[in-house]
Amino acid sequence: QKQELFMMRQLEPMTLDGKYITLHANIELPMEADTVLDFGATGIGLYRSEFLFFRKGAPSCEEQAQAYAHILKKLEPHPVVIRTLDAGGDKLVSDISATDEANPFMGWRSIRVCLSRKDLFKEQLRALLLASREGHLRIMFPMISSLDELREAKRLYQECRTQLLNEGVELPKVKVGCMIEVPAAVMMVDARAKEVDFFSIGTNDLIQFTLAVDRTNELIANMFEPHHPAVLNMIDRTVRAAHREGIPVCVCGEMSSDPLSTLVLVGLGVDELSMTPWSIMECKKIIRSVNYEDVKATARTVLKMDTAESVNRYLRQKYLQMIIDLG
Ligand code: PEP
Ligand code: MG
Repeated sequence: QKQELFMMRQLEPMTLDGKYITLHANIELPMEADTVLDFGATGIGLYRSEFLFFRKGAPSCEEQAQAYAHILKKLEPHPVVIRTLDAGGDKLVSDISATDEANPFMGWRSIRVCLSRKDLFKEQLRALLLASREGHLRIMFPMISSLDELREAKRLYQECRTQLLNEGVELPKVKVGCMIEVPAAVMMVDARAKEVDFFSIGTNDLIQFTLAVDRTNELIANMFEPHHPAVLNMIDRTVRAAHREGIPVCVCGEMSSDPLSTLVLVGLGVDELSMTPWSIMECKKIIRSVNYEDVKATARTVLKMDTAESVNRYLRQKYLQMIIDLG
């Protein structure tokens, strides 16, 4: 297994006809950064920074800067996408999150917390900017449902940046992107694509909100369907809008590492997939065994289907044997 991992690490995540798909890792703890390159990742597509906040009292600006710098140094020169605090929902952060909400996933969470607790948010942005001198940082805002929120987050980012520059700190350019995780984002995706340097689709939340299926509720787990035509069409719309503006699209939800979903996402034109490091090797094998032209045709076919069941039947018929053969 270890040897195979090593062998795969050398191989490019490229389809038979030469389409390169960037494979990045999702991490939750800074020390995970120490090993992601061994798994064959060429960057970090999602560092869930809220895990730093799972303790009593928020981490100081210096502590945060140190944690971010650790990750950036380990990965240099590869890119690291650090997502700003995504507290709330199922990730309650003591001292910050509200604990008595009827619908926490749709409540006071994520960017909403950051925009009303600007002290916290600016401290994180300052820490990120300070750390940006240590490697290749990209900053990403989660759960943005309106352009106003995105503009306000960007304004605060600029404010922190200007302040540091005025203090004489030299800063490299940092790309700023946002997650696409709510249907409103997809409906207004053209305008949003003009405002950011990249998109990252959070399919865990996007599926939850598109299908109105609580991602943590086991009673309806079978309804949480990544291949629902509504979800696939949302991804397609997002990719097309991004590419019209010349920005890349990543998918960083669980869906990116399911073998059949990987093929659909690649076929839809997604540029990057970010996933748990353990899935990267398998994903690379799958990408290396198909033609881009073929998965593009598959994506066009399934986009026209009207139920998840027909999509799944079609995908299994076409690719399951290949995936089983790959082991
Ligand atoms: C997502 O929603 O798909 C995502 C990657 O973010 P999280 O799972 O942390 O909500
Ligand atoms: Mg999410």
